[in-house]
Amino acid sequence: KVRVRFAPSPTGPLHIGGVRTALYNYLFAKKHGGDFILRIEDTDQNRYVEGAEQYIIDSLNWCNIPYDEGPGKEKDCGPYRQSERKSLYKAYADKLIESGDAYYAFDSAEELDKHRKSHEAEGKTFIYNWHNREKLENSIALPEEEVKKRIENGEHYVVRFKSPKDETLKISDEIRGNMEIDTSILDDKVLYKSDGMPTYHLANIVDDHLMKISHVIRGEEWLPSLALHFMLYRAFGWDAPKFAHLPLILKPQGKGKLSKRDGDKLGFPVFPLEWKDPETKEISAGYREDGYFAEAVTNMLAFLGWNPGTEQEFFTLEELVKAFDLKRVHKGGAKFDPEKTKWFQQHYLQEADNGHIAEEFSKFLEKKEIKVSKEYTQHVVTLVKERAVFIEDIWEQGFYFFVSPTSYDPKNTKKAWKEGTNDLMNELITVLEATEDFKAEIVSENVKNWIKSKEIGFGKIMQPYRIALVGSLQGVDLFEISEAIGKEETIRRIKKATE
Ligand code: GLU
Repeated sequence: KVRVRFAPSPTGPLHIGGVRTALYNYLFAKKHGGDFILRIEDTDQNRYVEGAEQYIIDSLNWCNIPYDEGPGKEKDCGPYRQSERKSLYKAYADKLIESGDAYYAFDSAEELDKHRKSHEAEGKTFIYNWHNREKLENSIALPEEEVKKRIENGEHYVVRFKSPKDETLKISDEIRGNMEIDTSILDDKVLYKSDGMPTYHLANIVDDHLMKISHVIRGEEWLPSLALHFMLYRAFGWDAPKFAHLPLILKPQGKGKLSKRDGDKLGFPVFPLEWKDPETKEISAGYREDGYFAEAVTNMLAFLGWNPGTEQEFFTLEELVKAFDLKRVHKGGAKFDPEKTKWFQQHYLQEADNGHIAEEFSKFLEKKEIKVSKEYTQHVVTLVKERAVFIEDIWEQGFYFFVSPTSYDPKNTKKAWKEGTNDLMNELITVLEATEDFKAEIVSENVKNWIKSKEIGFGKIMQPYRIALVGSLQGVDLFEISEAIGKEETIRRIKKATE
């Protein structure tokens, strides 16, 4: 059975790259009728950030990619927080010691630093592996008895993986194909520490095995760990899951990896939800708070490293589940394009139900203490939405449906208001007053007939008329505006503009 996991460390808000990893895992699981698991990798207590786990869960929920198993959704493979699984890792470290795949090392931080520096002085890099592990006095060369004594004495130790020398590993990745890795260049990574905590590598492999993970789909930054993970499965005698490493997400200019700080610098969110740093209190923008629909964000993310191989660009989540295929994930980095997200957003706003948009927009109006009926708001939404990208744009594009203009755009007013315009506006008022049924078509017909009868250009009337209602030359069809705000208000605004 397909079982995939998203395994973030709660060290801060989930950035857009993490959301993409979660999304691809979700799509892959659902496509194959499998399970999508959330595992919180919180073994590094120093990097734990308050609120980060909840943020991750809220983000997945907002994106409509809920997990099947994880914190709060306990099933057979729980608990799903590594800190709550702490007691089970030691036995696995012990197993590797026993089989000779790992060893105890008692080097102090100062000693390691000294080795590093002395190598540097000779223009070399210190790699903790076959190069020197036998030569170090507090490492693999210690007799068993001595090791035992030191541990009993409470000395700090680490357990390191013993990377073999001169072996070529043949590893295959679902996206990158076959790779060969020479083990001689690998260092002996720490797996376990005497404080009782496993490192990422040990906990990750043990949990993927115990949670019966079939496919590991994660970011390219974990590719350098793949050889070690492969060897760990082998050392334990377990079948390894299949691996798929997703391409990097690059800055919009294409140079370098998109970082958590790029958003603030470039003026677009790199987080799904707004994040308030618990320490600095700094706020980072989020797609949700900036008015994006989750559909726009997931559609954008789906294309960040994958394409369906067809012309289709708009995909609902269900369509993505059907179309998604790891074989179509690219190897090369994917350039992040904030404009593209806006473009998706505009599309989904046009697709969205007007009643729903009206309801959301009503909340915005309430804040402004504007009281109008639901029907009225919905009618405005229908007229204005094609000019909007976000729900709040409806205000900018259609405020004149709710309030009369507070100022008149000076440049266009000067152009539109010529000598005689006030007289024409007064005549227009008479025409409007005589229009009983104030429907847009009827107002339009009456006004246009009157203009024709006067044998003057349309602009002479329509421009000042528009400025009177809207305050500038922008806005939707003037007669629709007139009908919506009503006869009385239309006339009142024209009168006011002539003053
Ligand atoms: N805890 C790792 C992370 O934060 C998980 C990497 C993996 O998926 O193996 O991304």
